[in-house]
Amino acid sequence: MTSKRENDRRNPVLQERAPHLTPEFAAHFLEERYDLTGTVELLASYVDQNFRIVEPSGASWVLKISNAAEDAGELDLQHRVLERLAEAVPGVSPMVRRSRADREIESIPGRGGREHLARVVSFLDGPLLAAHSAVSDETWLDLGRLLARVDVALHSFEHPKMHRTLRWDLAQASWCAGLSREISAPARRTLIERAQIQFFGDVHRRLDVLPKQVIYNDANPDNLTVTIEAGNPRVRGMFDFGDTIHSARVFELAVAAAYAVFDRPRPLEVLSALVRGYHEECPLDECELETLLPSVQMRLVLSVLISECDGRAAPDNEYIRVSEDRAWNALEALDSIEPNDALEQFRSVCGREQSPPRPDGSALFERRTRHVGPALSLAYRNPLHIVRGRGQYLFDANGRAYLDGVNNIAHVGHCHPRVVAAATEQIAALNTNTRYLHESLVRYAERLAGLFPAPLEVCTFVNSGSEANELAIRMARAQTGRHAILSLVSGYHGNTTTLIDVSSYKHDGPGGAGAPEWVYTAPCPDAVRGVHIGPGAKDRYVEEIARQCEQAAADGRPIAGFIAESIIGCGGQVVPPEGFLREAFEVARAAGAVAIADEVQVGFGRTGAHLWAFAAQGATPDIVTLGKPIGNGHPLAAVVTTREIASSFAGGMEFFSSFGGNPVSCSVGLAVLDVLEEEGLPEHASAMGARLLDGLEVLRGRHEAISDVRGLGLYLGVELSRRVQNELCPATDLAARVVELARQSGVLLSTDGPHRNVLKLKPPLPIRPEECDLLLAVLDRALLFL
Ligand code: PMP
Repeated sequence: MTSKRENDRRNPVLQERAPHLTPEFAAHFLEERYDLTGTVELLASYVDQNFRIVEPSGASWVLKISNAAEDAGELDLQHRVLERLAEAVPGVSPMVRRSRADREIESIPGRGGREHLARVVSFLDGPLLAAHSAVSDETWLDLGRLLARVDVALHSFEHPKMHRTLRWDLAQASWCAGLSREISAPARRTLIERAQIQFFGDVHRRLDVLPKQVIYNDANPDNLTVTIEAGNPRVRGMFDFGDTIHSARVFELAVAAAYAVFDRPRPLEVLSALVRGYHEECPLDECELETLLPSVQMRLVLSVLISECDGRAAPDNEYIRVSEDRAWNALEALDSIEPNDALEQFRSVCGREQSPPRPDGSALFERRTRHVGPALSLAYRNPLHIVRGRGQYLFDANGRAYLDGVNNIAHVGHCHPRVVAAATEQIAALNTNTRYLHESLVRYAERLAGLFPAPLEVCTFVNSGSEANELAIRMARAQTGRHAILSLVSGYHGNTTTLIDVSSYKHDGPGGAGAPEWVYTAPCPDAVRGVHIGPGAKDRYVEEIARQCEQAAADGRPIAGFIAESIIGCGGQVVPPEGFLREAFEVARAAGAVAIADEVQVGFGRTGAHLWAFAAQGATPDIVTLGKPIGNGHPLAAVVTTREIASSFAGGMEFFSSFGGNPVSCSVGLAVLDVLEEEGLPEHASAMGARLLDGLEVLRGRHEAISDVRGLGLYLGVELSRRVQNELCPATDLAARVVELARQSGVLLSTDGPHRNVLKLKPPLPIRPEECDLLLAVLDRALLFL
């Protein structure tokens, strides 16, 4: 591996501030300030200087002259750690020698008026572990024990500088997201992205539950001294405490393991030996066992990325590349280990019970095919077997993490604990229907109605977006006494018989039979690819609405309701031109129709601080339908309308939904609203959406295949096309391949639009900045290596 020293050597800031003292000066300084005389020799070091002095008695010390960038407080942190270790694990680490003036840190004037901090520590005797290539698992077992003893000694240690910024700290690894694009080989980029997703999804997200303390954080073989016992090197000492930091305890092991697996044919055995040794002295908890492997991988990622970025300064140094190959090989070897296999192995060496065998994905596929209808499609050529969801991540049966770039139903994050608690508490207490008084129904209706502009104030609850749209259409018919429905080309509103008739996406698509005579459709208001483009497009599309209303009336079938998605989703994430929806609703109302906004996909702040996408268009509908995100995965949907329409609908026939508005659903709905508010998710969606859109614009400049980038908040589309004889044609095949390639890196996406050439980006709202960057890097790679 490119050593950390090598990386530092290539860091221009550190290089510029390096000390340049002569051995003569060092000898003079040691005698004058430390009463030390003897032979002085310069040790290998790049951005600071270390001089070894051997006294005539044989005692040996190291004068450490720091880089001018070094902070005295951080040196004090190291010294206090060394002091604690000297008491608790004698001999394991150097001791600080005080100067004649009784100071631990002296200062030396350097070049350009800079001050270099200097200190003297005892020299740890013994060969380095790095000098031994034939290392058995005994060595790693023993190193595990020693690291555990060090961590036990540092368990309650505190220092003001322990929470500092350090790019080698795995807890601070977010900076490296998106940097896979610095690597040119596609397979290597994929390795980095997979490791990053596993780390961000499995470890970073759980930092608050991992045991934390000050750790040494640099057990690499260049920093470890050994004695040879029964032919095996045994680590006895460790030096260079420059990376000491307060972080997750398991990262101590992860750093050691990242180097230990180097050139090892069976890396899992090396990791297991380290775990066993550590656990003997300091028991590891389940979460630490689960997070170890991805932490080791991330340490290797940091190493290759830092080395790549800093190494741009030394492009002709072939030696660096050769040593980097070893790190890449280790990354590749670790990537082929399934996370759950590693976990089982670690649990076994810690004496824990084994988990039951995992179900086999291909057998599951066979069984599904036998008894589940073939009209239900599966994503991906090789289907995913997902067993767990957390936040913006899904995990397969092997424990692999996937960044969910497309599930807008898991709006506030998969299995959000608040939502799970609300559902489980209520289902344990009562679940009935709306025929009894219940506080949760009333509270939820009050809360939901309060989120809409007047005169929208009456709620009805059902179980799916389809049911909500069915009900909306019935309400429109009850209000107007008419039957016909106007919808948009490419629109999708649900899976029932009526809604397939209303949804052009379905009845005009594969297997569709076209629209029945009571359905009128107006062109999709797409000002980029639609039938009207450019500046006057909005007016033309509004005129089309008026024309259809007139046509329907002329046909003797006046329009009861005009239904439109506020952003056309399945139709390819098309944002209508500004003001379209407001004017289209006005025109439809003028023709006597009811205006229905289908917010099933885009509602609840997905498009940003406006909770509802119709609001961004300045429109106020007469009926709004809600679904998907409303229950964060729980089957809940709603229709919100005016008192007038609700009264017309109550014309004698009772409306009853067995499950709609039950206490569990209402508790879930309330919890989703709480989380949205408390976590500020709509505002967050605006910020993350802007970050993604900016990044997508950059990608559009790099990749010819991207012909449009569009959307609002976290509801985005990337259209892929290719030019054929000067005509832009939908690149359906490319879009499908990008989805497959992104999956290889661990990012889940899907395609849509009438030609299935639009990549949909609609992740759970809590997606973090580093995950947006990572997602963009993955898209970039997929498009580069199609
Ligand atoms: N309306 C829109 C805009 C939708 O996207 C969908 C589902 N994709 C529906 C309605 C139907 O919702 P559900 O699948 O819950 O019936």
